[in-house]
Amino acid sequence: MASAQPTKRCLEKSRVAFERAKSKIPGGVNSPARAFGAVGGHPLFIASAKGPYLYDLDGNRYLDYIVSWGPMILGHAHPRVLEAIARAAQLGTSYGAPTERESELVEWMQRAMPSLERVRLVSSGTEATMSAIRLARGATGRAGIIKFAGNYHGHADALLVSAGSSAATLGVPDSPGVTEGASRDTIVLEYNDLGQLERTFAERGKQIAGVILEPVVGNMGLVVPTKEFLAGLRELCTRYGAALIFDEVMTGFRVALGGAQSLWGIEPDITTLGKIVGGGLPLGAYGGKAAWMDQVLPAGKVFQAGTLSGNPLATAAGLETIRILIEESPYEMLESRGRRLGEGLSQAATQAGIAHQLQRVGSMMTLFFNDYPVTNWTQADRSDRSRYADFFWGMIHQGHYFPCSQFEALFFSIQHEPEMIEETIEAAGRTLQWMAEGIRLRP
Ligand SMILES: *Cc1c(COP(=O)(O)O)cnc(C)c1O
Repeated sequence: MASAQPTKRCLEKSRVAFERAKSKIPGGVNSPARAFGAVGGHPLFIASAKGPYLYDLDGNRYLDYIVSWGPMILGHAHPRVLEAIARAAQLGTSYGAPTERESELVEWMQRAMPSLERVRLVSSGTEATMSAIRLARGATGRAGIIKFAGNYHGHADALLVSAGSSAATLGVPDSPGVTEGASRDTIVLEYNDLGQLERTFAERGKQIAGVILEPVVGNMGLVVPTKEFLAGLRELCTRYGAALIFDEVMTGFRVALGGAQSLWGIEPDITTLGKIVGGGLPLGAYGGKAAWMDQVLPAGKVFQAGTLSGNPLATAAGLETIRILIEESPYEMLESRGRRLGEGLSQAATQAGIAHQLQRVGSMMTLFFNDYPVTNWTQADRSDRSRYADFFWGMIHQGHYFPCSQFEALFFSIQHEPEMIEETIEAAGRTLQWMAEGIRLRP
């Protein structure tokens, strides 16, 4: 049965804006994931955002399933967060001196995530992970860092190896400019492979400063760890004296108030945070056991600093965001809406006869165009990227802004109401049907 022919939206002003940007900014964007490289065409230039919606320069409205790659869990331009930022701005925007709000923010973070005995605030997720591995190395006097293929930890040199996210999307797993020296001590293993991890520790345990991982992966599409894998990691790190670093930049305050560590009941030594913790402003953090964190200067000797660290506007936005999350505790609601969206997308793909895997934790998920469950990067990499591009553009032309890569997780906010989720499922049903019929909307 042929479905109604789709109509394309006018994206002309975004196209012109992209042409202008390309002559001034490398590739026209300030972060590669935004460039639509994996799906073709040009990016949408955003004019404004409110609640669950984004508006582009051409005046098109989109239900936003990226929410700034995770941070906007309360929806865009939340009135209480805006007011907190405005109030803070009246008092000056940066002092380069301590403020009480930094301790207040950390106290609210500790309520959500009790493993954070001490916290250092920074300005991005990249800074948090970079500083966490420096701390692991400084505290242990060892060099080796274990990471997992397809896990993204920001763009610090030592971690930009087999790095998932846009590095995977754009096919640069090992980036030019990262010297052999900078990545020599990074050991890349397969996610969810406890045997390989055990062998590596048995051979080189005394050289390993720490293990860093996404405790639910969002950066190769959504991939879930096994309980045995996380428990085994915890045990090995304790036995060998290595730091277990949970990179919860994406999962912190997202998959649960207390992050993935609370879902699996496993306490890392160090946690890195970003995205939601800044409420949409540039803020990151790393924290954990006092025995580790008190090695950071000036309590200890491991150097780390930042002119804008603990910035008054960023801490105001983060504090208000976390306060609202603790007060409203929306996680059961996010789980039930996420379950409905996941089931709806999966049923729509089944009805269209398209091979897929829907993988989800709470309000984070990925529809993989893949025959097999995805537990690691080797399997994620087998997904049909071309199908994903067709799916993405079908959704854009119906007003649903999905991640522009098979290897980025979808997110939604507390302002994505059940009827909006139903609209998305219907739009996905039409898109997948068009795909089955060979009707293509991608440029
Ligand atoms: C986004 C992300 C980072 C990097 O954070 P930035 O703020 O972009 O530097 C690090 N780790 C994970 C898991 C992320 O998702």
